[in-house]
Amino acid sequence: MEEGGKLTGGCLCGAVRFAATPLKAEMDVCHCSMCQQWSGGVFMSTSCGGTLEIVKGQDQLGLYRSSEWAERGFCRNCGSSLFWRGIADGHVAVSMQAFDDASRFSFAEEIFIDEKPATYSFANQTRKMTGAEVIAAYAAKQEAGHG
Ligand SMILES: [Zn+2]
Ligand SMILES: [Zn+2]
Repeated sequence: MEEGGKLTGGCLCGAVRFAATPLKAEMDVCHCSMCQQWSGGVFMSTSCGGTLEIVKGQDQLGLYRSSEWAERGFCRNCGSSLFWRGIADGHVAVSMQAFDDASRFSFAEEIFIDEKPATYSFANQTRKMTGAEVIAAYAAKQEAGHG
């Protein structure tokens, strides 16, 4: 994978197919309670900015508005979790496992580390941010970017 190159992916049943361009060859894990429940584990994703294109199965794509500021995309047929999207800026975090080849992503960051169950921990050396730190960083970016 070239860094910044367009990658393809899709859901388990193949009804929904997409293309997206990761901003970095990095994968993040979100430990927040919503991602735990939605993904059935942790949500492993890569930031793709506004580059997500649904190339097949737009009618099979479900969108769940999980909060005031975000929605989550999934396949209506097989239930695969596909992406998280910010409402205000359209920023998309695409599920790492939804890509056809995610082997080149490195595991860079864990967010909402304060919501991680004590039951498990990743051994990887990663940057770790609490929920409060993530929200503060996001708010600062919004002010800088959108006034
Ligand atoms: Zn599907
Ligand atoms: Zn989360």
